[in-house]
Amino acid sequence: MRKCSLEKINEIFAAIAKNAALYLPVDRTDGSAAYKKWEEGTVWSNALNTVRSPKDFFFPQTEDLMRFKTKGKTVQLEDIRTEAEAFVVFGVRACDVKSFDILDRVFLTEPADSFYANRRNHGVIVSLACTRPVETCFCKTFGIDPSAPAGDISAWKTESDIFFEANTEKGKALLHTLSELTEECDDGAVAEQKAKINAVMEKLPLKDLSTKGFGGGKTAELFDAPEWDELSSACLGCGTCTFVCPTCQCYDIKDFNTGNGVIRFRCWDSCMYSDFTKMAHGNNRLTQKERFRQRFMHKLVYYPENNDGLFSCVGCGRCLAKCPISMNIVKVMKKIGGNKGE
Ligand code: SF4
Ligand code: SF4
Repeated sequence: MRKCSLEKINEIFAAIAKNAALYLPVDRTDGSAAYKKWEEGTVWSNALNTVRSPKDFFFPQTEDLMRFKTKGKTVQLEDIRTEAEAFVVFGVRACDVKSFDILDRVFLTEPADSFYANRRNHGVIVSLACTRPVETCFCKTFGIDPSAPAGDISAWKTESDIFFEANTEKGKALLHTLSELTEECDDGAVAEQKAKINAVMEKLPLKDLSTKGFGGGKTAELFDAPEWDELSSACLGCGTCTFVCPTCQCYDIKDFNTGNGVIRFRCWDSCMYSDFTKMAHGNNRLTQKERFRQRFMHKLVYYPENNDGLFSCVGCGRCLAKCPISMNIVKVMKKIGGNKGE
């Protein structure tokens, strides 16, 4: 383990930014935080987490896939893929780090998504332990320890210092470039901070929320549960919950005719939208109840069924904070699973 005084944090950022684009959370004027590219003078946010998740760096909201031109019966394709630039995402919380295990299973299972793989290969994740988890956090429900975040490098911040531990070859290589700014240390201060974080977790309102009642094999039992009617009745179908979610990964592919050829691009889509998965024959899910049910059944039943029991929620709490009608996965888990977590 290595440490550095927080007084030198800008030297750390400058050293990282010498070799790679560095993104880190900064405060916005409305009090929330968002990732921004570091440059001299950028101030690192103290916020617990960002409104949008770091998923955006690996699976951006829109991206071009190819260009093509047609002439008579011939199609001229242009492969526009390039090597991604090296980049570092700094200060990723434990829940968001875990979201990459979920996304990797979707995008890196053969046939792998070369666009996502390209960014995963060139991106380094420096995580950060949560010093003050909040009421909407429930990562522990999914077995995530906010005091011991994964990532290529794990980091812990105290009042005076920042501590780093490399977990992967990429992480070791990055930490090596910081050796003149950091010094070897024991893990005493980190152990103390871990104990403090876990004590806070024990006081959070969602500490007893469990996944009991969900998981693979539950489709027959839960699909026609009468509670879906009430839970979905006020849903606006706005898709906010899916856009802020670090594990949602649905997208659409569209063509845009520029007048001088066609750009094929993909953009995020949402299972909450009325035209989601609409096909020539019509739509599979005609009501908002069906769309709403799909989102939560996917996270809590279908995904774990196909992925060794792994749920596709990390308890980040973004949907609890952002849904305009205050509906969210916790309410679904309590109502449908008969969950007693308060
Ligand atoms: S469903 Fe909600 S709490 Fe779970 S990962 Fe997505 S935004 Fe976070
Ligand atoms: S659950 Fe909330 S955020 Fe999600 S689509 Fe419905 S109204 Fe929008």
